[in-house]
Amino acid sequence: MQTAVKGPTADSGDAVFMPYERDAALEFRQEHEGVHFWCGTVSGCGRPLFTRIGDERIPHFYHLGESEAQCRLAKRSRGRLDIEPEMISAELKRWRQSRDLPEGEAVFRDPIDRFDARYIHISDPASTRDTRVVLGNITITKVLEDAESPQGREWDWFVHERNSEVTAILDRQGVAYGRFRFVMHATSATLEVFLSTPDNVGDWGRISRYVPAPNRAPRPLEPAPPVTADLKPGPARAPVPQRAAASGPARERVDRDALIALEAQFPPRRGLDGGPTREPASARRAPRPLASEPTRQHAPRSEEQIANEFKDAIADLKEALDLGDRKNKARCARRLHALRKAHRKSLSSDDNRAIKALLKEASPS
Ligand SMILES: [Zn+2]
Repeated sequence: MQTAVKGPTADSGDAVFMPYERDAALEFRQEHEGVHFWCGTVSGCGRPLFTRIGDERIPHFYHLGESEAQCRLAKRSRGRLDIEPEMISAELKRWRQSRDLPEGEAVFRDPIDRFDARYIHISDPASTRDTRVVLGNITITKVLEDAESPQGREWDWFVHERNSEVTAILDRQGVAYGRFRFVMHATSATLEVFLSTPDNVGDWGRISRYVPAPNRAPRPLEPAPPVTADLKPGPARAPVPQRAAASGPARERVDRDALIALEAQFPPRRGLDGGPTREPASARRAPRPLASEPTRQHAPRSEEQIANEFKDAIADLKEALDLGDRKNKARCARRLHALRKAHRKSLSSDDNRAIKALLKEASPS
């Protein structure tokens, strides 16, 4: 793995990179003599990490012995992008506290088979003011549905600057959000949020200065809004990137290019069972109608989308079973159970039997 959290505990949120280059890595190790490194608690397992700087492979962090096989992050590491969940969760905890909200519990969701569809949800039972963080430029149906839901209006949203899919929905719904980006340095990164100013220019700055604008009323669905509407935001809101208004095919192409570039940079890892690698990125994502089309909400989900939801739910439950995480296991089982109930017809009898067996395995004895 290329990232770790440093400090006295695994939840310090002080995330760092191991430099790729050998001399820089040796220097990094010298500078951090006596410092403890950990696998972060938001996306990883919270166990100690150690540095390996040899001649064969690029310098990296590793777990001792069996911990490597038991760590979900080690299995799905995305190189330097692994710094994002730890860093933004730590900063948002501080931000929530500064706004008199409970620190909350951060849950990281990383659906298999969608390379960049990660998100974080910070919640606290005592408060309805949750925080939703959408990482990366592509997301899953659940996040899009959350953005349109009445519940989603109660949350503080933070969306990666490249994710025009989610921001287009939030813009239409009149829901305020902070756009963020990570600025990478040699051994760490800085999180920046777009801060709009009264003159509607704005600039990137520290998240501590971000104050969400009040939500507006949703834009009416009929008639369809003109394409240029997104280019004229109200005075109190951040300017919407032009890409949000791009035509469907153009937008798809941009996202796919970004995805393919990312895949090339961080090639998907082979499963631990030595199974086949994942299918090409272009085959994975079901085509979705443009977010601004009024019919979108009523369009039934495609077979492929449903199949993907099943795949995600099954993989998540298997992972929860592997990790022995009881709370997560119950949540994943509920989700799979609900999916099976809703889409029983689209399952083959073999699949149905396998899912039934899995749910039985997950049920508390
Ligand atoms: Zn780990």
